[in-house]
Amino acid sequence: MSTAPQLSVVMPIYNEQEALPLTVERLRPILDELGIDYEVVGVDDGSTDATPVLMQKIRQDWPEFRIIRFARNSGHQAALKAGLDRAFGDYVVSIDADLQDPPEKIPEMLSLAREQNLDIVYGVRGDRGTDSFFKRRTAGAYYGLMRRLVGKRMPSQAGDYRLLSRPAVDALKALPEHQPVYRLLVPWLGFPSGEVVYVREERVAGATHYPLGKMVRLALDSVTNFSAAPLRLATWLGLFSFLVCLGLVAYTAIEHVLGNTVPGWSSLFIGMLFIGAVQLICVGLLGEYVGRIYSAVQARPAYFIGYDSAEERARTGAEKFTDCVR
Ligand code: UDP
Ligand code: MG
Repeated sequence: MSTAPQLSVVMPIYNEQEALPLTVERLRPILDELGIDYEVVGVDDGSTDATPVLMQKIRQDWPEFRIIRFARNSGHQAALKAGLDRAFGDYVVSIDADLQDPPEKIPEMLSLAREQNLDIVYGVRGDRGTDSFFKRRTAGAYYGLMRRLVGKRMPSQAGDYRLLSRPAVDALKALPEHQPVYRLLVPWLGFPSGEVVYVREERVAGATHYPLGKMVRLALDSVTNFSAAPLRLATWLGLFSFLVCLGLVAYTAIEHVLGNTVPGWSSLFIGMLFIGAVQLICVGLLGEYVGRIYSAVQARPAYFIGYDSAEERARTGAEKFTDCVR
């Protein structure tokens, strides 16, 4: 395999022992048929099941299958970042390991990008019929909000199944983002883009690794990473409360002139409550940002590389299949 393949397929993998063999079975013939140099970058996001052993086995008879393993679970977006950072290809496709993104669309993405000289080809979900009602509703709300933040450039219903050209990948790598949310950053790049519509299939095996907690975190990361809109909301709230206060001041003044100053308790109380509430909201929003600034200043790495098969080969001239499997 040449060191600069024409296509890299980046696949974040976390505890996918049931799904991975099926994914490989379906993905490999499609890539082989393309007749180009390619690599598959499997990023093992600190799996604790048999996934690492399985990946080593896959690599033994599929040399194009590269392995990167995190020392611990760092999350889907961190795994994507590692894959994009380390992929060599002229084009890079990111795809889930559970066959929810049909790999049959990869050749279509590639030919569209080549024919029209595009830097980004989004995989757009034509139908989410196989997702649960809850997932559809939360995803709908999420994409609605994100479109408001990033603008119309963001295609609705585009997840992390997409193709990027080398310049687009390099641009993403140059961003100082600490916790990148690629489904927002990519549309924000604004490079020439196209779309390929696909039907989101059901997860082939195993269970989702995106419980509510991780979804809320992704949404929070998305909003705070990407926009000062919440801070602006705080400003608007502050302005509104200021106007209400002005009204209350006028009211108090009139009551004072009329000699009704003693029963001022209720207006004072309402004002106090209101301002207290607004201040709390503002402090909470500021806290979100301050927390993120704090973690960026700490410069904690988004992931720790435990193993990269490419480096292993460069160092020793061969790969050991045993000592890197925990
Ligand atoms: N994944 C990951 N790290 C995590 C959670 C998920 O690398 O902490 C991978 C997972 O193996 C899969 C992809 O990210 O390839 C999408 O995850 P999943 O299918 O669980 O999410 P869903 O499709 O349900 O949103
Ligand atoms: Mg999935």
